Amino acid sequence: MKYQRSSALFDEANQYIPGGVNSPVRAFKSVGGVPVFMKYAKGAYLTDADDNTYIDYINSWGPAILGHTHPEVLEELKIQAEKGFSFGAPTELETEIAKFITGNVPNIDQIRMVSSGTEACMSAIRLARGFTGRDKIIKFEGCYHGHSDSFLIKAGSGAATFGNPNSPGVTSGTAKDTLLARYNDLEQVKDLFANNQEKIAAVIIEPVAGNMGCVLPENNFLQELRKICDENGALLIFDEVMTGFRLAFGGAQELYGVKADLVTYGKVIGGGLPVGAFAARNEIMDHLAPKGAVYQAGTLSGNPLAMRAGLKTLQIIKNDAGFFSRLEKTTEILDTEISKILTEKGLAHTINRQGSMMSVFFDSENVSDFDEAQKANHDTFNRFFHHMLTNGIYLPPSGYETYFISDAIKENEIEMTLEAVRKFESL
Ligand code: PMP
Repeated sequence: MKYQRSSALFDEANQYIPGGVNSPVRAFKSVGGVPVFMKYAKGAYLTDADDNTYIDYINSWGPAILGHTHPEVLEELKIQAEKGFSFGAPTELETEIAKFITGNVPNIDQIRMVSSGTEACMSAIRLARGFTGRDKIIKFEGCYHGHSDSFLIKAGSGAATFGNPNSPGVTSGTAKDTLLARYNDLEQVKDLFANNQEKIAAVIIEPVAGNMGCVLPENNFLQELRKICDENGALLIFDEVMTGFRLAFGGAQELYGVKADLVTYGKVIGGGLPVGAFAARNEIMDHLAPKGAVYQAGTLSGNPLAMRAGLKTLQIIKNDAGFFSRLEKTTEILDTEISKILTEKGLAHTINRQGSMMSVFFDSENVSDFDEAQKANHDTFNRFFHHMLTNGIYLPPSGYETYFISDAIKENEIEMTLEAVRKFESL
């Protein structure tokens, strides 16, 4: 494969954009090499600036669950574009999508739309603090809830990839209100509550983590967190930015049968346009402005193009009875077959998977928290990444990310992917 054009574009971008990218993981810094600049996406495939094509396992980091540029979503966008791009005034469409989501997801009465997952999580903890009158939150090491100050403490995703999970610029005043626990470690959570009685507003968690690679909750972790929050008058926040409408229509709440107090969304909910959302029961959402005193706002919140793309995407998923089991089956095949090939090659590894999210960790037996994710062999991961890239398979460029499998990945794409894995030669 040739990367001349991407290389030239990256050089130029570096002069005008910090690090040449608008979001750090895109720079390929941890895996090395030049990031591939994309120009088209359709179905399961991406085409880069040098006309190389790739089977896409990132899918815009989750939103393109139907595959790229789905014709029905495209049609909706065209129709809406003719009517107007943005009004900054309420539309019927916003109620339509709010009604659809609250009617199809367990345990939420009202939803507020924003423009990113960061905004959704940032607003959710403000609301939790306003509702409980408490300041502190508990988050888990390796979880990523966007880049707002309270969350950039032992954060996953790009923050972990670049080895700076604690960002300069976050004040010590803010940091002191974020308490940390190990993922899957209930004892630490209990200790934090015991040592901070009536001070903890909320526990926020990725119910299936995707930002330290894919890490699953074990031993009824989510159910136990629910109990601990209830015993201590704290809210449980599920960050379903990745998992919402991906693991099941009702997300992790439905899959694990746990009712969170506040739920945040992003990615799939916008069908590829910039959208986030947070939702809860009436008692909590009534505290939000303009009804209540907790302030939150957005110039482009509920943007009609984004709402159209989101609603159409969700309707397509909802009307397809076999959707989630099909995605899960595809992911299961990839998991088992990739694992078989790596084992035949004598490469120690573990693959974590839930629904259509999965990650391969090299030289690991079990990865159930951030420490274990860090101990995986990231050098082998980086070699594997580049091998797959040059064989036309676009994987997330970091061992701290998850693959997002789309419905456009069919037998042919699976076979091409496995063929590429078969050619991988470890050192
Ligand atoms: N929460 C989770 C679980 C995420 O994975 C992400 C982004 N990957 C965010 C929040 C932040 O979303 P955004 O990048 O849209 O701000």
